[in-house]
Amino acid sequence: MKYSNQIQKLIEELASLPGIGSKSAQRLAFYIINMPKEKVQRLADTLVTTRNNIRYCKVCCNLTDQEVCPICNHEKRNKKQIMVVENPRDLAAYEKTGKFEGVYHVLHGAISPMLGIGPADIRLKELMIRLQEDVDEVIIATNSSLEGETTAMYISKLIKPTGIKVTRIASGVPVGGDLECIDEVTLLRALEGRTAL
Ligand code: ZN
Repeated sequence: MKYSNQIQKLIEELASLPGIGSKSAQRLAFYIINMPKEKVQRLADTLVTTRNNIRYCKVCCNLTDQEVCPICNHEKRNKKQIMVVENPRDLAAYEKTGKFEGVYHVLHGAISPMLGIGPADIRLKELMIRLQEDVDEVIIATNSSLEGETTAMYISKLIKPTGIKVTRIASGVPVGGDLECIDEVTLLRALEGRTAL
């Protein structure tokens, strides 16, 4: 045992976070130990408060601290145009462009037979319920990975019988590319070049 139990525990907790290897975990642990106590308290409070207060928006399933998120609540947003994304980070990427005036639906994942993730494991049912209201267009903006394409096909087949227009963002987005890593211009081009499914 290189460190005291308490330090070891902190390192293990940090190392369990995504993208943090054991070296980074050690560095962070010692940084935290040397931080003023009030700062550590504030960090800990923020972690707990955020975790406790964040939930899914009742309408679009985006993460929010309110019952209905600010986007769904915004009177100027076009509620008849719904963009379907895989996760809140993808939503944030499109929101950053400032050009999309519709609303979103966050699936929290994508269908992946390989990983055993089926349609019931993502927020699809919630989307179908929304479509019972007056909707003009569903824009499928899932990633262009195998899972993203599988999900897009599945959703379009599901929506077809309703007669609602279904479009898919253009594949200016590199294959396997994560939406959040792509620059705003490419995102906008993908949105503008969307095609009917
Ligand atoms: Zn919402």
